[in-house]
Amino acid sequence: MYWNERYECMPEEELRELQLERLQATVKRAFFNVPFYRKAFQAIGLEPGDIKSLDDLHKLPFTTKQDLRDNYPFGMFAVPMSEVVRIHSSSGTTGKPTVVGYTRHDIDVWAELMARALVCGGTTRHDIIQNAYGYGLFTGGLGIHYGAERLGASVIPISGGNTKRQIMIMKDYGSTVLTCTPSYALHLAEVMAEMGVSPGELKLRCGIFGAEPWSENMRQEIEKRLGISAVDIYGLSEVIGPGVGIECQEKNGLHVFGDHFLVEVIDPVTEKPVPPGQLGELVITSLTKEALPVIRYRTRDITSLIPGTCSCGRTYVRVARFTGRTDDMLIIRGVNVFPSQVESVLLEMGGTEPHYLLIVDRQGALDTLEVKVEVSDSLFSDKVRGLEELEKRLVNELESTLGISVKVTLVEPKTIERSEGKAVRVIDKRKI
Ligand SMILES: [Zn+2]
Repeated sequence: MYWNERYECMPEEELRELQLERLQATVKRAFFNVPFYRKAFQAIGLEPGDIKSLDDLHKLPFTTKQDLRDNYPFGMFAVPMSEVVRIHSSSGTTGKPTVVGYTRHDIDVWAELMARALVCGGTTRHDIIQNAYGYGLFTGGLGIHYGAERLGASVIPISGGNTKRQIMIMKDYGSTVLTCTPSYALHLAEVMAEMGVSPGELKLRCGIFGAEPWSENMRQEIEKRLGISAVDIYGLSEVIGPGVGIECQEKNGLHVFGDHFLVEVIDPVTEKPVPPGQLGELVITSLTKEALPVIRYRTRDITSLIPGTCSCGRTYVRVARFTGRTDDMLIIRGVNVFPSQVESVLLEMGGTEPHYLLIVDRQGALDTLEVKVEVSDSLFSDKVRGLEELEKRLVNELESTLGISVKVTLVEPKTIERSEGKAVRVIDKRKI
């Protein structure tokens, strides 16, 4: 049930002592080895010795993705390159990528955290893990891979793409666990249905999905179509990669591995902490990383802290499943809109596929939102009247959820482009 009970179920008081000790060491490491941090500390008159308790965390300056870009490629590293054994980077779809480095010890910690995560998510050493996260500069593939090997499970390093081969291997090798993005899991289910392969023919029983926000309804859809139990895993390359947190079998929020990461949820505008239960931006401080310590890293991911303890026995703090990213948040006529809200409505209503595209434009001074939605095969062959009714119901439901007027365009099944990694859900023409 646990990979490392001593840390995963550590009494809270003891955990806080360990966190403080590790925070102080991290602050020193950053101050003395990274010019960026030394300057940032000096600018506000802060010295490492000023961090005397965990409550002093708020005194520390934030770190942003832009700071990593400004110090591209290796300027944020706290160790000489001779100690760096691995380099990963973000995709860099907007501007320069962010580059992250790992010492041998960092890789060791990462494998430990991923082994914990896999066990927490329901995997054992007897599982055959089909790892369909991309291998390469992206941290997903190798992160899961090292954790699976540490656990002692059998890992198939298939990487993303080549969907028909994925399904053949899944069937022939008897894969029991699938790891990939939730949108790719859904795509796999779709292709499987086309190939006439039913979930009953597979040994698949569990899915560990992450790297993009996905709704509770999406979980139920994937669980139904693949006949599995699906959990949400969280991580980001700037912090370590996958393995920052994961859901346990309670599926009620993600446990964050508190002996390695400190988390806060702040109001992204005022930068002050928000109370548990209230949505805000997740901020993470690494506690053990050597090559790239991050202090109060602004993840831009939107979540809330979940109060209370979890019945699984882990004492780690939990964060709610992610609503979206501050980057994905669209401001349309002054209203905040997340693609995940649209996804939830579509899955709840039925008659459509959870493949959709939000197109935001501006006509005169007014922002417009168009939602393109794929209709289910069965409905598409239906009468025009049925489609008109569906469109009307969708408009009503979306308008009441989002609080703005929406144009709905129904499109034929399988016409919205599928993704093998992170799905593209928004086209914002106001920016083009
Ligand atoms: Zn739990």
